[in-house]
Amino acid sequence: MPNSKKTIIVGGGIAGLCLAHHLEQGKIPFVIIDKGINHSSKVAAGIINPVVFRRMALSWRVAGFLPKAIHFYTKLEEKLKINFFHSITIRRAFAHQQEVDLWNEKIKQNSHKKYLQPIENNQFDYLNQPFGSGEVKNCFWIDTHQLLNGLIAHYSNMQNYFIDEFNYEKIDLSNSKYSLSNGEKINFERIIFCEGYHGLNNPYFNYLPLQATKGELLNIKSKSLPETESLNYKCFVLPIGNHVFKVGATYEWDSPNIEISEKAKNELEQHFNKLVNTDYEIIKHEAGVRPTVLDRRPLIGTHPKHNNLLIFNGLGAKGYLIAPKLAEEFVEYLFDGKELDPEIDIKRYE
Ligand SMILES: Cc1cc2nc3c(=O)[nH]c(=O)nc-3n(C[C@H](O)[C@H](O)[C@H](O)COP(=O)(O)OP(=O)(O)OC[C@H]3O[C@@H](n4cnc5c(N)ncnc54)[C@H](O)[C@@H]3O)c2cc1C
Repeated sequence: MPNSKKTIIVGGGIAGLCLAHHLEQGKIPFVIIDKGINHSSKVAAGIINPVVFRRMALSWRVAGFLPKAIHFYTKLEEKLKINFFHSITIRRAFAHQQEVDLWNEKIKQNSHKKYLQPIENNQFDYLNQPFGSGEVKNCFWIDTHQLLNGLIAHYSNMQNYFIDEFNYEKIDLSNSKYSLSNGEKINFERIIFCEGYHGLNNPYFNYLPLQATKGELLNIKSKSLPETESLNYKCFVLPIGNHVFKVGATYEWDSPNIEISEKAKNELEQHFNKLVNTDYEIIKHEAGVRPTVLDRRPLIGTHPKHNNLLIFNGLGAKGYLIAPKLAEEFVEYLFDGKELDPEIDIKRYE
């Protein structure tokens, strides 16, 4: 490894990999250190949904995040020559008249018109929708395995990706050096921690209110569900090809472990069977842990005492939507002196 000063990115989930892409574009020397076990970005369904269904509100900053995400993933598909970014319609089933009324109310607002379609009273044999259903446009899903494997292969070929467990005790802050477990030393300009929920163990940033929110997902096989739209009510049913569907996801707060549980499987099956009528077979059950934050905003910025230690974490339940734009803003903060959005800046916890 040539000995010029580098940016070390700790963690190669969607957060670290988005940052790496921006650094690569800016020709900033960097390395990614990842321990090789990813249990959030890979397990994620990768759905990009501009609407929060509970209140039929638009997702936080969606008007800026969505166009950036579309641009970012489309360009990345061209660069990596792989196909992982798919457009999809989400069909929300209604169980109560109030939900229909709320949808009809929201659809009058200009901000929502782009996403919510007028309700049509179509009937579907496979769908339980006592009060009909509404379609959400401008939604996408990402084949997370294809994307992460593609990026990891790309950075491994560039010799920028190291599988190693980062050890905080090996940081020599006075000389700006870090030693890999094989003894190799890296001169660093800065270290950016993108460790997902493992950030709970980071001695420099453990004063921040990061939380571990476990989620479980099933992959099921069904011959009678549609492969052209994602269904939603209390759970999502996402078609991923060959009659396979992801069904998710559960939320379990303060749960930093990746054990799958019978309880979560039963919960998902219960929601699934309320939403659709179909025979199915469960072919996979997975768990991951989301890095969430008390105030539901990411944790981004510079350590209050060590200005070469930084954090880019807390992407919560929507990492795939928000990471591309936030990584761009973070790089502009680092190299162009732009201010961070106070809502995401960790200064709010000083
Ligand atoms: C069940 C489930 C479903 C989800 N569905 C969606 C969805 O549909 N759409 C969406 O946008 N988001 C979804 N999410 C949320 C999404 O997964 C997260 O927002 C996002 O993946 C967080 O990415 P990250 O890079 O911050 O963390 P992670 O993906 O957890 O990556 C952190 C990386 O850091 C590495 N690491 C940590 N500590 C160290 C260390 N000491 N040394 C070396 N490496 C280290 C880990 O190996 C890991 O690769 C879902 C999450 C779950 C659990």
